[in-house]
Amino acid sequence: MTHNSNKVVIFLGPPGAGKGTQAERLAREHGLVQISTGDILRDHVARGTELGQQVKPIMEAGQLLSDHLLIALIRDRLAAMGPVRVIFDGFPRTQAQAEALDLLLEELGAPVNSVPLLEVPDQTLIDRIVERGRQATARGEQARSDDTEETARKRQQVYREQTQPLIEHYQRRGHLYTVDGVGTMDEVYGRIVSGLK
Ligand code: ADP
Repeated sequence: MTHNSNKVVIFLGPPGAGKGTQAERLAREHGLVQISTGDILRDHVARGTELGQQVKPIMEAGQLLSDHLLIALIRDRLAAMGPVRVIFDGFPRTQAQAEALDLLLEELGAPVNSVPLLEVPDQTLIDRIVERGRQATARGEQARSDDTEETARKRQQVYREQTQPLIEHYQRRGHLYTVDGVGTMDEVYGRIVSGLK
């Protein structure tokens, strides 16, 4: 497999759909770099950086951070790359972010290849998120402070209002394909891989 040509994959799907887990494996097995904005931001919060302190309350409320901030963050990451071989997980989340990303990628000559949309029923999502919080606590780890039922519902609502319109954005461009996100990790992974371009 050659790993020197541009490739851009964008994971879409509601909070708790399993984007992070699947994106990590896909990155590992396909020589891609995973860019998870949630992970990057949580790392800042954990290290108590200036940015971390600024974004912490907004993340804990399940709200989105400003488009400006996220776009700058992604621009920096992409600028530091040779061939653009990336999987986005958690970005873009708004129409403005999607449009900014289209422009950035155009400048870099690295258009979007595939946009898998992970579909999982709403109540299953809430159960998964609450369970993820419980498991972390049971392992003696710090649970994500936004992994509570109330915040999960808020994140779901934000997804519906701000991120769902992106489905159409990528559908119109012929990049989107839907993936049933219910099943074992391997089953879901297989469905994602079989739809990749
Ligand atoms: P989830 O597990 O709900 O999909 P993430 O781990 O991707 O969430 O992100 C956690 C939080 O980080 C979001 O609820 C939001 O506050 C912030 N965030 C992450 N990515 C973005 C983005 N692209 N635009 C705005 N805010 C973001």
